[in-house]
Parts: sequence; C-alpha cells; structure tokens
Amino acid sequence: MSPLEELRHSASHVLATAVLRLFPDAKLDIGPPTDSGFYYDIDLDHKLTAEDLVKLEAEMKKIADENQRFDRKEVSREEAVEIIKSRGQERYKLGRLADIPEGEKISFYTNGEFADLCAGTHIRYTAKLKAFKLLSIAGAYHRGDETNKQLQRIYGTAFPTKEELAAYLTQLEQAKLRDHRKLGKELKLFHIDEDVGQGLILWTPAGSIIRQELQTFIATELRKQGYSQVFTPHIGRLSLYKTSGHFPYYKESQFPPIVERDALEGLITSGCSCAEMANRIEAVSQKFADDVNARTGKETITKERILPEDQLIDGFLMKPMNCPHHIKIFASQPHSYRDLPVRLAEFGTVYRWEQSGELNGMTRVRGFTQDDAHLFCTPEQVAQEVLGCLSLVKTVLTTLGMSDYRVRVGLRDPDGKKFAGDPEKWDLAEAACREAAKTLGVPFTEEPGEAAFYGPKIDFVIKDVIGREWQLGTVQVDYVLPVRFDLNYIGADNVAHRPVMIHRAPFGSMERFCGVLIEHFGGDFPLWLAPEQIRLVPISDKVMDYAKVVLAQMQAADLRVTLDTHSDKLGAKIRRAELDKVPYVLVLGQKEAEALSASLRSRAKGDEGVHTVASLVERFKTEVATKALPEKRKV
Ligand SMILES: [Zn+2]
Ligand SMILES: [Zn+2]
Repeated sequence: MSPLEELRHSASHVLATAVLRLFPDAKLDIGPPTDSGFYYDIDLDHKLTAEDLVKLEAEMKKIADENQRFDRKEVSREEAVEIIKSRGQERYKLGRLADIPEGEKISFYTNGEFADLCAGTHIRYTAKLKAFKLLSIAGAYHRGDETNKQLQRIYGTAFPTKEELAAYLTQLEQAKLRDHRKLGKELKLFHIDEDVGQGLILWTPAGSIIRQELQTFIATELRKQGYSQVFTPHIGRLSLYKTSGHFPYYKESQFPPIVERDALEGLITSGCSCAEMANRIEAVSQKFADDVNARTGKETITKERILPEDQLIDGFLMKPMNCPHHIKIFASQPHSYRDLPVRLAEFGTVYRWEQSGELNGMTRVRGFTQDDAHLFCTPEQVAQEVLGCLSLVKTVLTTLGMSDYRVRVGLRDPDGKKFAGDPEKWDLAEAACREAAKTLGVPFTEEPGEAAFYGPKIDFVIKDVIGREWQLGTVQVDYVLPVRFDLNYIGADNVAHRPVMIHRAPFGSMERFCGVLIEHFGGDFPLWLAPEQIRLVPISDKVMDYAKVVLAQMQAADLRVTLDTHSDKLGAKIRRAELDKVPYVLVLGQKEAEALSASLRSRAKGDEGVHTVASLVERFKTEVATKALPEKRKV
C-alpha cells in the first residue's frame, strides 16, 4: 500500500473499532482504502443515520487521541478461526478467511481492543490520523452480489494534513453543486426517460444548442486539418463485424444482434433452440474463415466457428464502433500514395451494452455519439498524423479553458507477446506517439502494457476547474484492421502496400464531453455555448413594443435572445434569469426606449449600467465570435 492508502486503510480499522464500541452487535465485513478515501461494510440491525456518523467520528477522534499501536501478528488458519469466533465475527470474516489461498500468510492487525483479519499494511500509531471525515452511508450487497444480504457501507476519507482534507471537502461541495445530472435537470439540458430506455440520452432544445455549437466548432477545426465529413448508418451486417473481430468477441458489451425476419420465422418453425441459434449467428462459412485466415496469416477464425453456408443466420448489429463503416468508404475507391492520408470524420453514434448499475447521467450511457475519425496513411505519415490529432485536442481544450490536462501514452508490454503485428512497426508507432506527446508541452506518462492489442494509443486526462480528473477519448494506431479488411494503396514503386489506420475520438463522446463541460462550467457556459444568451426584461407592458424591436434586432444578429413576457415584478424576473444562468439580462424601461438603449446586467459583474442596443449587439457578437471564456462571477 502507498502511504496514503495505509493512512486511509488504518482509518477504516479505527472506524470499525468505533463501530464496535457504539454498536457491539455489529458484524464486520471488509474495509479497504479507495481512490478518494475508505469504507467499511457492516451488518447492523440498527439503520445508521447522519447523527450516528457524527458520534462515530467523535469516537474515532478519541481512538486517535488514545494513540493505539497497530501490531501485526501472523497466525495459522486454525488460530484465525478461533480469533474470529472469540470476537463473534464469524458471519463474514470466516468467508473472508476462506478467500485466502492455502499456503499464503494469514495475519491480524490489532489496535487497542480491536483486531481485524488483514494483510496490511498499516500506520504505526493511531495518533497519525489527524485529518479524517466520515462522509456518507450507502447500501452495499455483500460481495457485490444482489442475492446476498445488503450491508451498510460507511464512507469516509483521510488525508495527511487538515489543509488537504479541507481542500478535498470544498471540492466535494463544489462537485455536488456542479453535478451534471442536477444541473442538467435544472437548466433543462437533457432528459433520460425510462420509456425510451436507461442510458439513452434525450437532448432537449437547450442541450442540443450546446452540442450543436461544439460539433460545429470541432468540425470546423477538422476541416482546417483536411478531414472529410462522412455519414454512415446506425447498423451494419454481422459479417462486417465478424471481419473486424468486434463480433462475437465483444458481444458482452454490445446490444444483441438483430436477426432478419425470414430467418427468425424459419428458426421458430423448425424449433431451433436458443443455444443453437446463438451458434449459428456467430458462425462463419469455410470460405469466410479461409479469407480472413489467409490475410492475417494465422488461424484468426478457428474451426469451431465454421458451419455449412445454409446453416448460417445473417443479421445486423447496432454499431458498437464506426471503424468498419469508414473502412468500407476508404475501400470503395482505389488509392495511390498521393491521396494519402485520407481522413474520414463523423459524429458517429454507437451503442454499447453497459450494466444498468454502471450507468451514470451523460457520462456512462448505452448510446453515444463519438467525435470519431479514421485516418488512413502510409507508415511514414503516422507521426505527423498523430501530432495533428493532438494539436486539434489542444486547440479545443484551450478554447474551453481546460488547459490543465495530461496525456498517457499506452505502449506494449516489454515482452510484447499479447500484441498483434510486427515489432519494427510497433517501435516506429510508439516512437511516433512518444514524440507527438512530447511536442504538446503538457505532462505525459508512458504506460507499458496499456496499448490496445493492435497498436499504441494516447489518451487524455483533463483536470476541471475544481481539480477533478476526467478521462476523455483516445488516439490509437492500428496495424490490424487494414490487414483484416485487406486495405491497400499503390505506392511510388507501383506495388500495393498496406495503409496504417489511426482511430481517434479525442473527446470520447458528445454525451460524456457535454456532461464534463456542464460540471466544468457549473452551468455558466461561455456566451457562444449558452443556450439562451440574452433575456429581455421589460419593466411594464408599456414598453413591450420596444422590447419586440430589440428582440428582432438581436435575432437578426444571430443572437439567442428571449423576451420575458410574464406579468410578475421586475425583481422576480431578474431572479428567474439568475436561476436560469442567462449570461446577459437587458432591462427595458421608458427611458431606455426613448434612447434606443437598455440597462445591462451581466452574470459576471451584475449591474453594468445603460448602453445603446447597437453597442450591445456588437459586444455580444464579438464575445461569441472570439469564443471568450466567461469572466469569474463577482456577484
Ligand atoms: Zn487492515
Ligand atoms: Zn475506430
């Protein structure tokens, strides 16, 4: 364990000690450290409340002050059973003991009156616990299995210093306020409806504006880099994915195939079993297998998957990836080395089967639109193309005020056994990725063993304004799919060569990226992204005609402006605009109407005084065109 994990894990022992002091009947399960703290799962008839957390924390404080020593003791399996029984903890701890493989050491850690079955390691004395906090209680099934009893999980965190703890707690508070699920609802940005399906995002009008603006921005940058936009359907034939290898090898993370109606009816009449049907859907013909195996030069498709042609069942897959479709566009034309690189981009929607427990707002979903592109290039062009991908990411992230990010370069394992393709090409591609990452001027790490099996990759981890890290998308170099699909181009030597493919979806998906942006901006979007940029608030109905003139003028300037026609008081209208986080509110009264002006309230500065409408239009247009970031709010 790292020193921080040791500290947090020791805090979980101290929590268990406190639990047994206050609730001697409690049955303990496990209490490991986590990325951000620790937890302990306990079985207790009394339902724990927020007040209990306060009491438990006070008791933990006492135990820390008692400065108990953590002592390790190795015991035999029989002794371990005795210790567990003598402490009345057999309900879960005997099972946990049984998990320890025969021949491995069994140890207990003791602090004060408490002892726990534990491999360690721990801090030396409880007094080292100076900064900790219990955060919440949640239900958790024993061993994560829904058929087991639900236990109570107490979450907490600990840090080496009080300052670090305070900073973390502030970050947690901020994160709650910025939660994209909460803001998404309040600002009506997106909706998830059980009737449509879990994990499927409905983009409402306001959210759609943000997505559309982002897509336009990204597409414009891509065009500048010589990409071509394409469109492809949401499904593809199973044979396509059998060639690429996406099916059946990743079927667990895909929606099940769509079988053709005639085939399905035939199967039902013939009394085909489900298992047989699955086999026949996954199988391929002898010729298909021979072709793929000849291209890859090995038994990529094994004998067990081969069936006579007339037994095969055809069907479609909702696309889990856009690559095969783009490959078919590339392959539809002959290519000379002079045409390369070919860069095909699509905001392509894909479908993946995520467990319902894994789904989370916009950031973990079952249908999403990748900012996808596939580049087909010569081996010599890989470095330059990877660099192009990275510079695009830099431009977009900088524009969005996300200049704090790092890059991870996934390389193959030192022994390289589980990776496809020849080592020389790998060396070239890895060197290209490394060089590209270096030139970005941001921190990067090399992670051996983290490559995709078909080539090295680069991924992006961004830090948002409150210091949380988010993993976005990747750039991957691929030597395998060009072989599987028998892609080629004619080289300067007049001979056919294999192109290299680069897959890149640097922002992951529009869903995830927008979810992250909602939290990053806390709903206060820059003007160019704000769904409603300006709200007009007339003081009374007498100036409604003037308000309509201003509305038309701003609409003509392509600004997203609305007119508040409610009859309530001015204060209420302004308050509502604040809740809706509208960047600019223009208050219109009789005096303003006479001078063709408006009284400006900005989200950042509050009251900014009276300005002519013409000057405001210019100001807003410039702010949109320059994609200015929102100023820090002073009100
Ligand atoms: Zn322990
Ligand atoms: Zn791809």
